[in-house]
Formats: sequence, structure tokens, C-alpha cells
Amino acid sequence: MANLRESDKKMSVAKKMLDLGKQSSVIREIFEYGLKRKAEIGAENVFDFSLGNPSVPAPPQLNDIIKQLIDSVPAEKLHGYTSAPGDQSVREAVADYIQETFRFPATAELIYMTCGAASGLAICLNALTTQDDEVIVFAPFFPEYRIYVEHSNAKLIIVPCNEHDFQPDLAGLEQAITANTKAIIVNSPNNPTGTCYREDTIQKLAEILKQKQLEFKKPIYILSDGPYRELIYDIELPYLPHYYDNTIIIYSYSKSISLAGARIGYIFVSPLAENANDLFVAICGAGRSLGYVCAPSLFQFLIKECIGMTADLSIYKKNRDILYNGLKDLGFTAVYPSGAFYLFVKSPIQDAEKFCELAKKYELLLVPSDSFGYAGFVRIAYCVSTEQIINSLPAFKQLAKEYNLLP
Ligand code: PLP
Repeated sequence: MANLRESDKKMSVAKKMLDLGKQSSVIREIFEYGLKRKAEIGAENVFDFSLGNPSVPAPPQLNDIIKQLIDSVPAEKLHGYTSAPGDQSVREAVADYIQETFRFPATAELIYMTCGAASGLAICLNALTTQDDEVIVFAPFFPEYRIYVEHSNAKLIIVPCNEHDFQPDLAGLEQAITANTKAIIVNSPNNPTGTCYREDTIQKLAEILKQKQLEFKKPIYILSDGPYRELIYDIELPYLPHYYDNTIIIYSYSKSISLAGARIGYIFVSPLAENANDLFVAICGAGRSLGYVCAPSLFQFLIKECIGMTADLSIYKKNRDILYNGLKDLGFTAVYPSGAFYLFVKSPIQDAEKFCELAKKYELLLVPSDSFGYAGFVRIAYCVSTEQIINSLPAFKQLAKEYNLLP
């Protein structure tokens, strides 16, 4: 506040928010360009790989469950407010699911229903951080992290992943932790690389954090951002609370069951976390201060009925195989994705933005990795129809020819 200029003070709106509102995300810009292009030349001629919006429909049973809920639950309950952390029976269902699936002790008292992972992240960061606190993320990272961290008054600290496998650089992490470190965001399966952190990575990461907690005599929390938890291909994914006590799970049903627009997810504070109860109360306070009165009631009740169901995720695996193998055959180098629905491809030139511009010539809409805090790659969101992937391969071939990549 001290360095706010006089002209800023006279503004009718908050400058910080005005600036944020003006800044459109690169991903959205590409998506908007795609819409324009589709109107001009036909949707089937544009290969839009920009957005992580699930293309596999939610299971049809969900509509039946919604109809049953409408018929059976009194309207004042179905459409009314629930208590702020969520309906008790829904929180119990989520806790039971965690216990059964991950064999980890969970209680409804530490579950807070949210509007997706986005609000879960914003709430947790606000619950944890004050000025001078630092939050570490591994690059490349989901671009909204910067906004949530900076708007919770904390400082974003970036530690790059190892480029050979896109696991976090643990030596870099060790160096980056200071007395001000409050939390680390862990996102596996990862957006944008599609990598999943191996068990040995998680074990070593937990060891480092335990040592640093002792050194600085304060808790450091892991915020495990896991909206892609079920989107894994031929691997097992470690459940972080088993490895590290000070873990907060942030989960969402946006991707696993294709409910992105329903805005529903949860926060789960590990009962083993230091001050778990106070932490939970702070989460309730942060939710309140951010105006999240409660998560949408209808969708809370829906989750209770369909917990454990997923959309047909096998389609993403099929897409991954066709795209990864197809691009490899054309001479591109990509990170082999074991989860999520993103392929991270090395740009044949260091300037990934320039490469994406050129790709537009072949109607290929790719996102430069600079948007994810990392240079020299592009992200391809393969949560599109398998037909689009197959039809796009000749365009990728043209692109490969431009850079003499073809073997
Ligand atoms: N975290 C990551 C890594 C994401 O990729 C996304 C969405 O794409 C989110 C959080 C936000 O998801 P939600 O729709 O659940 O708010």
C-alpha cells in the first residue's frame, strides 16, 4: 500500500483487479482464435488442442441420479444452502470413500466441499499464508497458481522440474526452502506435462520437507492439487498423506467425471497434520472471506450418490497412444505422459510462441509452454475427440516438414 501512487488511489476500481481482469490468459486467447477460425473454415478443419475441457461426456447415469434427486429430495433442501463446509452426509460419504480407496483415516470433520479445485486452492492459500510467506511451485505449472498465490499476499517461488523426466528437481527444492516457506503445491498427474510423480520422488520430497521443518521449527504444508487423480495410464499413484503428515488434499470432480461446469470438489485436511483442527477452522474462515457460502447443493448431493464413478477415461488413454506415437514417428520429441490429458512436446525452436504461430498455418492450435512458466515446449490438450487426433496427424506432418524433423 505504501508505494501506491496518488493516481492509483483515485481510481474507481482496484487497480490490481483491473489489471488482472485485462490480462487475458494465453490459453483463452488461443481458444477464442479457434472459435473464430472454426466459424470461418468449419470446425472439422481446425485442430484445437488449447483447452483442458473434458470431451468425454459425464456418465449418462448422472442425469438419472439428478432426476431422482429432484423427485425425492425436498426442494428447499436440494436447492437451499447447506452448512458452509458442506452437507454432513455428503462429507461423510467423501470421508468413507477416502478411507476405503486410499486406506487412510479420514473424517467428515476435516472435509470441506468446494467449487472445484480452483476455489480449493484459493481457500487453502488464504487460510495458510500472510505477507512474507512463500509458496513453492514446480515449473512448468498451472498458470492460475500465480494468481491464487499472489492474491493471498504470499510470494510465488518457482523451482523448475528436471528436463529429462519432468520430476521435481529436489536439490533445487532443498535450496529454495527458507524460513518463510509456508507451502508447496504438488500437482500429479501434472498439467501441463502429463507426468506423474514417482513414489521415490514423493518419498524424497517428504524427507526434505521433514528435515526443513525441523531446521526452521515450523510446519511446511503440501497442497496436493489432484484434479487428474483418476486419469492415470498403467501406473499406480502414491496418495500423499501416507508419506507426509502436513498434507492438504485439494480434489475436484471436474476431470474424473467430466463435471467441470458443475464446480464441485473438496478439501481434505490430513488428521495427522499439525494443528489440523485449527487449519480446518482457518479454511472455513478463508472460504467465508472469499464469499464461498457453500458448494452447490444439488451437486453435493449428486456426488454423494455417484462417488467413485468416472467418465469413460479409456478414451484419453487411446488418444494419448495415437498422439504420442504419431508425433514420435514424425520426429517430434515429447514427454511420455502417464496421466492427465496433456502432451508436452519440445518445440523444434527455442521460441515456442513462434512455433505455435507457425502451427496455426496448418490450423493446429497449441499452447506455448511460456504460459506455464517454462520455455521451449508446447502443450497439447488431447481431451478432444479421437477423430480430431487422427485427422490432425497430416497437419502435424506438414509442421514437421517445416523443421526437417521427419526421420
Ligand atoms: N489445478 C489444475 C492443475 C488444473 O489443471 C485445473 C483445471 O484445469 C484446476 C486446478 C482447476 O480445476 P477445477 O475445474 O476443479 O476448478
